[in-house]
Amino acid sequence: MRETDVAIIGAGLAGSTAAAMLGRAGISVALIDPHPVYPPDFRCEKLDGPQIDILRRIGLADQMMPAMTYDKTVWVARLGRVIDRRPGDQYGFLYDGLVNAMRAAVPAAVDVIVAKATGVSTSADKQQVTLSNGETVRARLVVLANGLNVGLRHQLGVERIVTSACHSITLGFDLKPRHALAFDFGALTYYGETIAARMAYLTLFPIGSSMRANLMVYRTMDDPWLRDMRRAPETSLFDLMPNLRPLTGEIDVVGPIKIRPADLYVTQGHRQAGVVLVGDAFATSCPAAGTGTRKVFADVEQLCSVHIPNWLASPGMAATKITEFYDDPVKCASDQASMEQAYQLRSVSINDGLIWEAQRWARFILRAGIGAARQLRAPHRPGGHAGPTSGKLAA
Ligand SMILES: Cc1cc2nc3c(=O)[nH]c(=O)nc-3n(C[C@H](O)[C@H](O)[C@H](O)COP(=O)(O)OP(=O)(O)OC[C@H]3O[C@@H](n4cnc5c(N)ncnc54)[C@H](O)[C@@H]3O)c2cc1C
Repeated sequence: MRETDVAIIGAGLAGSTAAAMLGRAGISVALIDPHPVYPPDFRCEKLDGPQIDILRRIGLADQMMPAMTYDKTVWVARLGRVIDRRPGDQYGFLYDGLVNAMRAAVPAAVDVIVAKATGVSTSADKQQVTLSNGETVRARLVVLANGLNVGLRHQLGVERIVTSACHSITLGFDLKPRHALAFDFGALTYYGETIAARMAYLTLFPIGSSMRANLMVYRTMDDPWLRDMRRAPETSLFDLMPNLRPLTGEIDVVGPIKIRPADLYVTQGHRQAGVVLVGDAFATSCPAAGTGTRKVFADVEQLCSVHIPNWLASPGMAATKITEFYDDPVKCASDQASMEQAYQLRSVSINDGLIWEAQRWARFILRAGIGAARQLRAPHRPGGHAGPTSGKLAA
């Protein structure tokens, strides 16, 4: 039987960040995950300025930077026209690289256990986690950071409510120019040309020496366009965005195309003694809105810098303590913004009707205005230097 104050189940982005923060604060922690090294997985592949700001605030940015590639400048374009050239604020990575860098930031004092949690029993005082290796961990608090896995939630009577099935689909692949050594841009965000394309945007950004593409579409998994994309990706991309070619030139898609749908879901029955849910284990976000990691970091920052130290300072782990986290105004605002952005981006990308058409043009004109103002402010420097802008929606 191992004893600890906090048992974290899941060493993905949320669990590893929590272990790094709590371990550094001198709190006794056990971090449980079946994978000694986080395996390759198609998830978030870039962080933007505000997400990096949180990493800086919690003192973990320096450890993460070597796993990331800075994009230097971003062209923002629609209908074949570059409407803004802004200074870069995006950092690309492969998800396993990011999580493994976060794991490396976990202090040696944290008890890292390579096993699957197979059972959890909770109470207002002591919690017990049973492991696939036959061991048991006793803790004052369990942090459930096991992502999309549902097994343990069922045991606890925590329910997942899907609010939007297959809300969006993300495609990830590498691109290279067919007739040149490099693209003209550091990174490119290209918005859908028409609602018939059923896409939000294509984002191209560097990871190491490769140009990575994330394409966000609103389709079903049996849409024949996905099959065409696998069979003839270059043709499918230019059919979807006919005015992209003048910006990229002829292109080759290199290596596999990853395709992953995302359901939006929320959680019910989670206000329980002894256990708290963070990251995707609590609620998912839409990859197109790009808010998933911001939500992970907001959850973990509030939980580990505010609530857990308070909870451990007095006996017991009653539901009244746990509820303070779910009602935390910073967490609630982050969850709400994430959900709103998911629906807003989908609607503005694919909804028909005058109101939505007007919104699309308003956004286009606003972005073009920002781009023009930037050029005026810094006429001698392409791209200007207006400082970092916020996340994907603001791109
Ligand atoms: C295709 C795609 C693209 C995305 N793009 C973006 C983006 O551009 N921007 C953005 O901000 N967000 C994006 N997201 C969302 C973001 O990736 C997630 O919100 C984030 O990775 C969630 O991290 P997590 O730690 O909650 O879960 P995970 O990283 O999935 O971690 C869960 C961990 O739990 C472990 N585990 C599971 N079961 C057990 C068990 N029984 N016992 C012990 N351990 C267990 C797993 O091994 C894993 O290590 C994207 C998501 C997807 C799917």
